[in-house]
Amino acid sequence: MQQFFPGTEIDEAVQWRHHLHQNPELGFEEQETSAFIAARLSEWGYSVRTGYGKTGVVGTLSRGTSSKAIGIRADIDALPILEQTGLAYASRTPGKMHACGHDGHVSMALAAARACSRLNFDGTVHFIFQPAEENEGGGRAMVEDGLFRDFPMDAIYGLHNWPALELGQCVARDDQMMAAFGTFEIKITGRGAHGAMPHEGADPIVAASQIVSGLQTIASRNVSPLQSAVISATQIHGGDAWNVIPEDVVIRGTTRWFEEDVGAKIETRIRALATSIATGFDCTATVDHHFRYPATINDPGCAAIVRNIASTMPGIEVVDAMPSMAAEDFSFMLREKAGCYFWLGAQKAGRNPGLHSAYFDFNDALLPLGAQMWVSLVNDQLKVA
Ligand SMILES: [Zn+2]
Ligand SMILES: [Zn+2]
Repeated sequence: MQQFFPGTEIDEAVQWRHHLHQNPELGFEEQETSAFIAARLSEWGYSVRTGYGKTGVVGTLSRGTSSKAIGIRADIDALPILEQTGLAYASRTPGKMHACGHDGHVSMALAAARACSRLNFDGTVHFIFQPAEENEGGGRAMVEDGLFRDFPMDAIYGLHNWPALELGQCVARDDQMMAAFGTFEIKITGRGAHGAMPHEGADPIVAASQIVSGLQTIASRNVSPLQSAVISATQIHGGDAWNVIPEDVVIRGTTRWFEEDVGAKIETRIRALATSIATGFDCTATVDHHFRYPATINDPGCAAIVRNIASTMPGIEVVDAMPSMAAEDFSFMLREKAGCYFWLGAQKAGRNPGLHSAYFDFNDALLPLGAQMWVSLVNDQLKVA
């Protein structure tokens, strides 16, 4: 396996990562991050498009005569979390933090882009720096801006660091990687009353309790035992006093599934259960359910390409794993274009705070492995004949 990086370039990629970690920006606000990325890509001879999908950047490099093209995507946004790591390079902005490792994803892709600028290949590589992966759907924004029209490509690839796997373990499944997700809000309206005289009102708290219990039956009674579904009520708000039955209660939560018919079933059943249970308690319920991200589904051919490359690389071991019920907006790109989203294990010795923890820190030992994966992919897919 060809080694594409001098060690000094990896040291520099670690410095970029720490710089980005100190300067996190939330979804669709990644102005400084985008400028940082664009400056480097331009320096290495890429044709650079900024402001794509609001704050995204695409760097394109073509060599030779082949019309073959691939896309490599890195997400660039941070999360609204108050960092607690105490690191020398911790976030300088209280309440914003790279707690999902997107700082590492950017640095890997940049290190790979630099190595590709001196690589002899035949075709076109697009490095796609996507904004707003967390909740806001920056992947969709780029697709809607015309990503696959303006930057034609045969396939697109993305990766995520995965602290639950040992360093260098690689999972590229043939189909399901990450679930689809939705959000729901149920508002239950009853009639408030004195807490000592409940019979004079219609208690939305009792109705809400029964609705939360009822929601548990969707996965167990309405979805096939051979399919996956999650309905989690994550908030209940209602009442202000010890002795007052409130007028209304709000329940909010999240839903997860893979197959579209399961998503549709979940929505239908939340609505039916909430409204009918509320009616049974002399209350009313309104239900909002929003489909947010589709499921992240790989193309088996592209997944095989990733596994083949990974299996030749020192420090990387191809393993199998179950998909995750977490979600990922790379799904909007995979819905339009064949591709593969894979995980690279990122465990460190000692404690391993998970993604989105205030104690999370991207494992810098993964930087050379991820960067090497990307350049190897370009070297393999855009091979000089
Ligand atoms: Zn995340
Ligand atoms: Zn992430």
